[in-house]
Amino acid sequence: MNFLEERIVKDGIVKPGNVLKVDSFLNHQMDIALMDEIGKEFHRRFKDKPITKVLTIEASGIAIAYPVAREFGVPLVFAKKSKSINIEGEMYVAEVESFTHKNVNQVIVSKKFLSPEDHVLIIDDFLANGCALQGLISIVESAEATVEGLGIAIEKGFQDGGWRIRNLGYQLESLAIVESMDAETGAIEFREQ
Ligand code: 5GP
Repeated sequence: MNFLEERIVKDGIVKPGNVLKVDSFLNHQMDIALMDEIGKEFHRRFKDKPITKVLTIEASGIAIAYPVAREFGVPLVFAKKSKSINIEGEMYVAEVESFTHKNVNQVIVSKKFLSPEDHVLIIDDFLANGCALQGLISIVESAEATVEGLGIAIEKGFQDGGWRIRNLGYQLESLAIVESMDAETGAIEFREQ
């Protein structure tokens, strides 16, 4: 098991409805040393790519993406969730259905912060059905920039987002892939990588 898998086994809580709670160390209270380790690991996996920007989605993606952007020495841009409709023109817009809240958000990135010269590394905390990543990919495409890869802290391998994104031909790196989890026993199994 790698450092993140060990931490998930120690402190993750399996909830009904295929939800893994990691709010004691990843997305509510945050273990900063763990975040730094995640940043170094994504840098190791993508260091041969000419990354110019890291892109994530608010809110919990920011904590993971920050140490990654620091390792690469590039700006971090985060897509904002927005309810306002009248923003086209200055903004790239995508629709993202939230796995945890079951609602649809418009996510926006200012055109000032992504351009065709950019080589983008997309980062997020979780991958479930892939809606968040597909929204971020479509924003990069709207900017005519290049998606160099995608990095996820925790992929739920029994949902089909990972399969879909890899099928599109992207390099998708997940630090932990949960193969199965059981809300009754709390048991979590990881995919061998
Ligand atoms: P997707 O768009 O891939 O269906 O879901 C990814 C998003 O939903 C992530 O940005 C994450 O915030 C949230 N998410 C999905 N599954 C889980 C989960 O099991 N636990 C937590 N804490 N968040 C999740």
